[in-house]
Amino acid sequence: MPADSATNPESTPLAPWTQSGRMPRIAIIGAGMSGIAAVVKLRRAGYNDLTVFEKTDRVGGTWRENQYPGLSCDIPSYLYQFSFEKNPDWSHRFSHGPEIQRYMESTARKHGVLRDVRFNTRVEELRYVAPVWELTTNGGETEIFDIVISATGVLHHPAIPDIPGLSDFEGEAFHTARWNTQLDLQGKRVGIIGTGSTSAQIVGEIADQVGKLSLFQRTAQWIHPLPQKAYGTYWKTLLRKVPALNTAVYWGVAFSIEQSFVRATLGNKLLLRYVDWACRRNLRKNVPDPVLREKLTPNYAAACKRLIFCSTFYPAISRDNAELVTDGIERIESKGVRTRDGRLHELDVLVLATGFQADRFILPTRVIGEGGQELGSQWEGSPRAHRATSVPGFPNFWMLEGPTGPIGNISLIMVTEHQIDYVIACMEKMKRDGLVAMAPTEEAFRQYNTAMTEAVQRTVWVTGGCQSWYLDKDGIPNIYPWTPRQYRKEMRHPNFREFRLIRSHDLTRSAERSASTTTSA
Ligand code: NAP
Repeated sequence: MPADSATNPESTPLAPWTQSGRMPRIAIIGAGMSGIAAVVKLRRAGYNDLTVFEKTDRVGGTWRENQYPGLSCDIPSYLYQFSFEKNPDWSHRFSHGPEIQRYMESTARKHGVLRDVRFNTRVEELRYVAPVWELTTNGGETEIFDIVISATGVLHHPAIPDIPGLSDFEGEAFHTARWNTQLDLQGKRVGIIGTGSTSAQIVGEIADQVGKLSLFQRTAQWIHPLPQKAYGTYWKTLLRKVPALNTAVYWGVAFSIEQSFVRATLGNKLLLRYVDWACRRNLRKNVPDPVLREKLTPNYAAACKRLIFCSTFYPAISRDNAELVTDGIERIESKGVRTRDGRLHELDVLVLATGFQADRFILPTRVIGEGGQELGSQWEGSPRAHRATSVPGFPNFWMLEGPTGPIGNISLIMVTEHQIDYVIACMEKMKRDGLVAMAPTEEAFRQYNTAMTEAVQRTVWVTGGCQSWYLDKDGIPNIYPWTPRQYRKEMRHPNFREFRLIRSHDLTRSAERSASTTTSA
């Protein structure tokens, strides 16, 4: 591309929105929980020119995609909801997947989100042509946007294990995020590889339906009981009549989780001891067989891997028709799974509960920033961002639930809403100061990530001595290591000194520099 068209605002089809008085054109990628929240909050802030690109035909993201039996959320319902759409009708303290999906769809309908969504449209490429983005879809159409917000989620690319012979299996084999909902498991011999949160929920749900359940465990997991409870009509009516009560419960639950499990993960020894005690007690109480209990006891600190909350798993794996297989997997054969002790575990169905590629985020969409740099090659297995939302060299490009954000045992809906407020505050700054673009400085990015890498060493994700999907390819947890309260503060008051604030004349100068370099060359 010629240097001047890449950097000169006059040569782009749109005059900068902060100077022409028009609405900024905003592209949101993904119509899951973050995409829905972004549309509602941006509209409320007065930004109406929104286009949501959704690769499938429905909103809902992870709740649309995951349809495995037992799917539920281990974050309390009153916290796992939008601040602008408090639901008085949650049926349980911890909602089941289909109920959350219905909530996502009804919220999107009620707030008119659907009219902004382009379904079955995948974004293939984003190219920064200062100060705007060219967005190209799978249909080959290219459009220009002033601002791009990636709302693609974290755990959405299934990790398929590299086990020899996987394609030789003659029965049904699928990843948990690609569940075959037509399949009747009644009386079948079902094998499950993996023992994370997903697997625990599935095992708890299907053990009494299947003929034989074989759970292939590579690493034991700590499991905390899930205090499930159904809500009655009186309580729901009260919440409907007194909406402030719903808000009070929202913040009350947030406070109690942040003061307990979150502080434990951040290194509070006393709280970690409590988590360890609660998990051991859960195991002792619910697994009577000492041999099985021994196999289910992890050799690392509780909460090092993301803590599982589930009360159905231990009773299920203790059933006579269930077997916990701890001999490593040698290979997969046409009839089942062969373990290293030479035994063949014959199966009709093989479920891969093997998690997700957690280092992808917006990838494999090609994101090309200033100077032709590609986000994917910059990240290379260790994705980083400034305050989880932006990257130097990629102006006007924002991420919701991006790398280094607060994840773990807290509500991602709350996190995403703070991030949207942050993006809106930055757009307001652009409008006030007539900026054409903004991106974090290299220095701010480096400082934030250096501090993060240091602080994370004190957390149980490092000190706990385990492997987990939190770790990047260098073994560093890709998670915010401070309190959610601090994150809320950072998001509420963006520090604009951390940004390159780009004005029209900066682009003109850069264009002149490029032109003179080209001439002298
Ligand atoms: P996960 O926690 O990453 O667990 C993957 C499992 O697969 C692990 O047990 C892992 O063993 C095993 N595994 C992977 N490759 C393997 C191989 N080649 N051979 C044998 N075993 C292998 O995945 P997940 O259970 O899908 O959960 C991912 C995340 O989704 C959770 O941590 C949570 O954040 C979220 N989630 C949330 C909820 C909720 O209620 N909110 C529910 C489900 C999931 P190793 O431990 O040895 O690596």
